[in-house]
Amino acid sequence: MTPAHAAGRIFIVSGPGGVGKGTIVSALVDRDPRLWLSRSWTTRAQRQGESNDAYVFTDRASFESRIAAGGFLEWTDFLGNYYGTPTPDPVVDHDVVLEIEVNGAMQVKKIHPEAVLIFVLPPSRDEQQRRLRGRGDPEDRVAERLQKALDEEPVGLSLANHVVVNDDLERTVDEMMQIIGHHRMLD
Ligand code: ADP
Ligand code: 5GP
Repeated sequence: MTPAHAAGRIFIVSGPGGVGKGTIVSALVDRDPRLWLSRSWTTRAQRQGESNDAYVFTDRASFESRIAAGGFLEWTDFLGNYYGTPTPDPVVDHDVVLEIEVNGAMQVKKIHPEAVLIFVLPPSRDEQQRRLRGRGDPEDRVAERLQKALDEEPVGLSLANHVVVNDDLERTVDEMMQIIGHHRMLD
């Protein structure tokens, strides 16, 4: 392991809403105990059926206090809510996984140019829409996330080290594990 990675590598998983990022990263950490998933803070309300651990659910005042204290590696306002990655403590022998949108990915790449960005695309816009509805997002949420995806995708694609189409979940997770394995071999 080179000194640059003594505190672990950073793998960023980004992509439009409903593409399956959350599902994929949870499968990745289940498969590989060397991956450590960062838990973000958000001011958005918890979705029905969403795990209490999905985020640290907080209010705007607490989030802004943490910004002022320099406690985020990156943060952004996404569709009217704050989302941020608490500055991670280095975990020896672990690689960090960040599941974040493209503005945050850009911030992390500026600070850590060696971070590996895997950008995930849906097989089609229709399928993305089906997944958002299937997850229980109300129609206005579906529409705003589809619209946002049109802005996010060109930026994400231009920053990405790898682009993966999440068609079949198992196949996608296999492909991501191969990408992660490839980067570990390079160091
Ligand atoms: P994101 O985190 O990108 O917003 P989620 O992980 O919440 O997306 O996934 C959105 C929905 O799509 C969930 O209901 C999830 O079970 C489903 N999903 C994820 N990946 C696939 C896949 N490869 N095929 C079919 N459904 C999927
Ligand atoms: P959702 O509301 O669907 O959970 O997340 C909305 C978007 O915010 C998704 O693209 C998700 O990846 C992103 N996101 C989640 N946590 C963070 C974070 O800590 N920072 C940034 N920049 N984006 C995040």
